[in-house]
Amino acid sequence: MNNQEKTMDKIVALCKNRGFIFAGSDIYGGLANTWDYGPLGARLKNNVKDTWRKRFIQERRNSFEIDADILMHPRVWEASGHVASFSDPLLDCKECKMRFRADNLIDDFDPEAHADGMTKEEMFDYIKAHSIPCPHCGKHNFTDIREFNLMFQTFRGVTNNAKSVIYLRPENAQGEYVNFLNVQRTMRAKLPFSIGQIGKAFRNEITPGNFTFRTIEFEQMEFQTFCHEGDDTGLYNYFKEYGKRYFMDLGIPEEHLRFHDHEKLAHYAKAACDIEFLFPFGWGEINGTHNRTNFDLTRHQEYSGQKMEYLDPDTNEKFIPFIVESTYGLDRTVLALICEAYDEEVIDAEKNDTRVVLHLSPAVAPFKCAVLPLSKKLSEAAITNVYDKIKGSFMTDFDETGSIGKRYRREDEIGTPFCVTYDFDSENDGCVTVRERDSMEQVRIPIGELEAYISDRIKF
Ligand SMILES: [Zn+2]
Repeated sequence: MNNQEKTMDKIVALCKNRGFIFAGSDIYGGLANTWDYGPLGARLKNNVKDTWRKRFIQERRNSFEIDADILMHPRVWEASGHVASFSDPLLDCKECKMRFRADNLIDDFDPEAHADGMTKEEMFDYIKAHSIPCPHCGKHNFTDIREFNLMFQTFRGVTNNAKSVIYLRPENAQGEYVNFLNVQRTMRAKLPFSIGQIGKAFRNEITPGNFTFRTIEFEQMEFQTFCHEGDDTGLYNYFKEYGKRYFMDLGIPEEHLRFHDHEKLAHYAKAACDIEFLFPFGWGEINGTHNRTNFDLTRHQEYSGQKMEYLDPDTNEKFIPFIVESTYGLDRTVLALICEAYDEEVIDAEKNDTRVVLHLSPAVAPFKCAVLPLSKKLSEAAITNVYDKIKGSFMTDFDETGSIGKRYRREDEIGTPFCVTYDFDSENDGCVTVRERDSMEQVRIPIGELEAYISDRIKF
């Protein structure tokens, strides 16, 4: 099934009905753009984190993972530029009171207009000149455009005054930057070295967004590489490819990935490129690689008053390192993997028999295998002789309800790569039947070999 034949409605329904992703605050009618990961979604997400940790921390020398706080000193966000300029240009419809992003209004009206290159005034004039109607009520009666900061702010302590404002971090990167010297010193790190972290970030966006693709709370897997000026371009190109390779290792074919080089760059950036994935709703960014130069550490030196220099042990030279950032949207990666894996396969056209299957990479599948006793009479033996023997090695499901065919289909739908059937012969020959999800082929193997058989096939 081609990715664009898949519909988000079907994917959202599967996620909801099979325990991957639920609407946030569901019993209260939901809260727009918030989602809760259910038992299978949480496992899938954790498995993706594990693969990232393996590729980006474990398998790389000079890579260090940290876990910085979400709440940071307010000066951090002044230094980073977020207080001054992390905003969206918004306007309200005076008729129906709906709020819109001015650039989106223009781009939806004419994709060739390139609102991202316009100033606030130019956008306002364009909307007026073309009498762009309100997408909600169809009238043309807008307020002026105002810049609306995307950081969530809250107040610390008991008094609600401007001095106690703190922000929920809008990106993880600053946690890595402010710990640059701590990590460098304690790990005795030499350039180039990297600091990564996985964590939540928050953005008060009004644009609704294609299930978990655009949300106000999201998780990032970030990787910052500190280097000498001059090594930055090589590392930037290297991490673009490394990121693409990572997604391909997770099972995304190359033709569903593409690079999108930014023409318009943030003022501090030397180069920026996204990796986009072909979602059912079109191409969408799942990764960004940025050459941030020495902007961030220079700003933190200026705002904190602390030297952010690196002393090169070979040359005795002191300087502020360059940073190459490679950042991965965790929720978007999970969504991409589900969309890529989703398939409807016709098993028997005459009988109108179709199976829904998630061809997830075994490394990220929520369950690695399911133990299925052929009859409920065999349940206890299947638990003692099989389930209990392998449950310590990987997540194992157990299902004794319904026909074996129905149970296979249920496991296919949640992406379980192996189904292990314990039948009446198992007690005598000590063997089980292992059915592979994608090929549906079956092999009979001794129970003693089961753990090694599955372990070999779920490696990342
Ligand atoms: Zn309106």
